[in-house]
Amino acid sequence: MSDQSAPDDIPEFASEVRRFLDAHAGRPRESTAFVWGEGDDRLAYFSADPPEVEQSKVRQAREWQRTRFEHGFGWITGPPEYGGRGLTPVHDMAYDAVEAEYDVPDTGTLSVVGLGMIGPTILAHAQQHIKDRWLPAMYRGDAIACQLFSEPGAGSDLAGLSTRAVRDGDEWVVNGQKVWTSVAHHSQIGLVLTRTDPDAPKHRGITAFLVPMDTPGVEVRPLRQMSGGADFNEVFLTDVRIPDDHRLGEVNGGWTVALTTLMNERATVGSEGAGPAATAQSPERLAALLHATGTAQDGALRGRLAELLADTLATEHLNVRALRRMRSGVTPGPEMSVSKLMYAQNLTRAAHFAADVLGPRAIADNGHWGTYGWTELLLATPALRILGGTEEIMKNILAERVLGLPKEPGIDNRSPFRELRRSGGEGDAV
Ligand SMILES: Cc1cc2nc3c(=O)[nH]c(=O)nc-3n(C[C@H](O)[C@H](O)[C@H](O)COP(=O)(O)OP(=O)(O)OC[C@H]3O[C@@H](n4cnc5c(N)ncnc54)[C@H](O)[C@@H]3O)c2cc1C
Repeated sequence: MSDQSAPDDIPEFASEVRRFLDAHAGRPRESTAFVWGEGDDRLAYFSADPPEVEQSKVRQAREWQRTRFEHGFGWITGPPEYGGRGLTPVHDMAYDAVEAEYDVPDTGTLSVVGLGMIGPTILAHAQQHIKDRWLPAMYRGDAIACQLFSEPGAGSDLAGLSTRAVRDGDEWVVNGQKVWTSVAHHSQIGLVLTRTDPDAPKHRGITAFLVPMDTPGVEVRPLRQMSGGADFNEVFLTDVRIPDDHRLGEVNGGWTVALTTLMNERATVGSEGAGPAATAQSPERLAALLHATGTAQDGALRGRLAELLADTLATEHLNVRALRRMRSGVTPGPEMSVSKLMYAQNLTRAAHFAADVLGPRAIADNGHWGTYGWTELLLATPALRILGGTEEIMKNILAERVLGLPKEPGIDNRSPFRELRRSGGEGDAV
């Protein structure tokens, strides 16, 4: 399958989706039109819910994913042998469009990292028994997956990671620390990158494994962010024994595995069309904000708003194309960095635009609808420019791999890992 026009059966498929949603989902939303002063005005990127509320939302997300899966909508483009439907990305997008009209639980905890990034990586690189065991479980909502890549000394310079795996018969013994691991506290499995040959150049001594999170020696500690919630974790790995048959790809071939995850990460983050981005960048909401604050005639603000909305629309079109390719099994390329970059920039611009319009009302709760509600999103914007690869790294990738500009000097791809300077990495961006 490749990028393609709509198959003939889409109207029929959309009717089937509607019948399923009528029978199993919350009633269709009466109107998706934005009306100033109506509904919840809170805009947030990360969760700031108390733990019991968060747990209950995750439970609902799992149940909804299971219902989708049992009715053939859990993995629309997936191979039938793992419970997928084997349909095209156009079917997948048609499903999303119809489902958006209904009240259904947010399944982001399962989909952003697990189904969006780790699922495609398992499909591409895992051994058969791992695919059989975990792919249906993930797409049925039974298993949530996390990405155990970043470390305190390896983020942008991911290939500089130091978590060590040493072979012991049919097992590997893993020791090290990961950080910023989103959803690890909800996860049953993690994809972990380890150093298996310190004498090889850094990209060539890495091996990837799938680790069940209940393996002895795996310890998850939450990190609290300034917007209130704790969506990320530190994960400590102490003498964790992983069977060799849980390895993905070749021994010391983990960089190839990591690239599959990272390309899907950029595409997934960049193409998160719904949720906070759609709400915060909604033309109706932003225009209503100008009217409600008496600034609708301010030429400078109007100009900024027009520019933002034009960029948002252009990004949406780019993402639709990217999503089609990704969902049809084409590994996203370096051009995905544009989506990630634009997603973070547009959402940040929308939050900053609102903050400039609102002034002190954005940071002091005066009880007025649509004002203080922007705060949580505003506090999340610095993270948007970091997660999934920082803004500087995205620009480096674009410069080198899309525009063909010269490579960043000073990156050592030849010396053994153990001889490299280990102070804060060399900036060898992934
Ligand atoms: C919300 C959030 C969720 C995350 N979830 C996960 C997760 O689930 N799993 C996971 O493994 N990781 C996760 N991360 C980690 C994320 O991938 C890293 O934070 C990111 O790659 C940056 O690495 P770092 O924090 O070590 O910063 P550093 O790499 O230390 O960068 C510090 C600064 O230096 C700049 N810099 C670094 N190298 C260069 C260069 N070569 N050229 C120019 N500038 C450079 C960076 O752009 C940045 O501004 C998450 C991060 C966030 C914020």
